[in-house]
Amino acid sequence: MRDASGYEGAPEREFSPATHAEVSEVLAEAYAARIPVTIAGSATGVTGGCCPHGGWLISLRHLNRLVIERGRAVAEAAVTLRDLNDAAVRTGQFYAPDPTEWTASVGGTIATNASGSRSYRYGATRRHIVALDVLFADGSPRHFRRGEAIDFDVPALPLPRTTKNTAGYPLRPGMDWIDLIAGSEGTLAVVLRAELQLLPAPERLAAAVLFFDNEDDVAHSVALCQREPSLRMLEYLDANSLRLMGERAGAALIVESESPEWLEAVSLPGLRDDSWVAASAQDRERFRAFRHALPERVNSRVQRNGFQKLGSDFAVPLEHGPAMTALYHAELSRLFPGQYVLFGHIGDAHLHANILPETKEQEAAGRALLLDLARHAVSLGGTVSAEHGLGKRKANLLPVQYGQNAIEAMLTVKRRLDPHFLLGRGNIFGDAR
Ligand SMILES: Cc1cc2nc3c(=O)[nH]c(=O)nc-3n(C[C@H](O)[C@H](O)[C@H](O)COP(=O)(O)OP(=O)(O)OC[C@H]3O[C@@H](n4cnc5c(N)ncnc54)[C@H](O)[C@@H]3O)c2cc1C
Repeated sequence: MRDASGYEGAPEREFSPATHAEVSEVLAEAYAARIPVTIAGSATGVTGGCCPHGGWLISLRHLNRLVIERGRAVAEAAVTLRDLNDAAVRTGQFYAPDPTEWTASVGGTIATNASGSRSYRYGATRRHIVALDVLFADGSPRHFRRGEAIDFDVPALPLPRTTKNTAGYPLRPGMDWIDLIAGSEGTLAVVLRAELQLLPAPERLAAAVLFFDNEDDVAHSVALCQREPSLRMLEYLDANSLRLMGERAGAALIVESESPEWLEAVSLPGLRDDSWVAASAQDRERFRAFRHALPERVNSRVQRNGFQKLGSDFAVPLEHGPAMTALYHAELSRLFPGQYVLFGHIGDAHLHANILPETKEQEAAGRALLLDLARHAVSLGGTVSAEHGLGKRKANLLPVQYGQNAIEAMLTVKRRLDPHFLLGRGNIFGDAR
């Protein structure tokens, strides 16, 4: 078993149950024998979360029923975002979370609280869940609707001041079950089915890939764009990203706006004439595909060189976005000239720095730099994981963000719902029990 980061693991047995009852039976058997269980979605995750070291692996691939109604979809865990969106679009609606990887499953995106490009306007997956059907570690089923508060006390944690966060459990008194289970990376419950909010498709949508020659112009343009209420996407690609994609420019912003008039009239400093403006839905899709091809190329290049993905998923409070971007540029170009890309969700102050190591020494230096940058992001009130989760590869970052008391509070919740630490073993907490 290998996920999109190149992380590998192997289970002792694999199951592909066809019904909810069969999933429950496998869990009950594993529980009785104290066998760890990992759930696999589409394995597009980038933190090793679905890759077990021993125990049983349950693939939910047969759970793929989907019903679309006005304002909502009822999707089983293995429904892909592509199928969900295609079906929603046919009814004049759309599902807002867009982690750009459309082969990802509904269950996997809930488990990681995935977000991506449109979270700039619509927030992460958690916000769009209306109800969940889940199984706990012993196989017992529960149905939770939005607003159903958890029935035990939890303390308030010092949560980051970012627009998105998926590092550990976001505990706060009075929180509901859906907020607890979303983002718990398969460590608290198995998601079988979700009722999800669908939104009416915007009547008008304009998109553009805006090229600039220098970073100062980009920074000013980001600040101007952030004032525009019609914007639903504000993404960034640095010069190295563009070079990897065969384009020549200092940097690019990718925007989607519900106001074509705004996009036509906007005056941004240093905006190049050869920028691309979408004239059709096909163009918009082309821009989306262009943006998505970048992390795919990065992941495959790093793995071709024999390494796992070496990238950041930190976000900082919006007011610190420009300083964090400048720090990324300064440190990456100093230590890894020409051997990194910086791209992502700049509207959320959430960039992905990906280092492209060619030697073990470079990989070690890259890890050290990312750890330093994680500490810095946290010192600014940020998060060590805005959207990918920690899985196994980044479980070492949980103590960077949270003190011992906060982690102990999360472990208390984990022990309460999964006393033998069977579900998603190794995810979020590493070896801690
Ligand atoms: C090129 C590329 C670009 C990407 N861009 C983004 C992005 O912009 N934003 C973003 O958020 N993510 C992004 N991702 C990451 C990835 O798509 C998401 O993390 C996605 O949510 C993983 O879904 P999956 O079905 O593949 O889950 P998997 O990888 O199979 O599993 C992920 C985790 O969820 C758990 N899990 C899976 N299904 C269930 C279930 N039914 N119940 C309980 N636990 C479960 C697994 O045990 C594991 O811990 C990107 C990935 C790639 C390859």
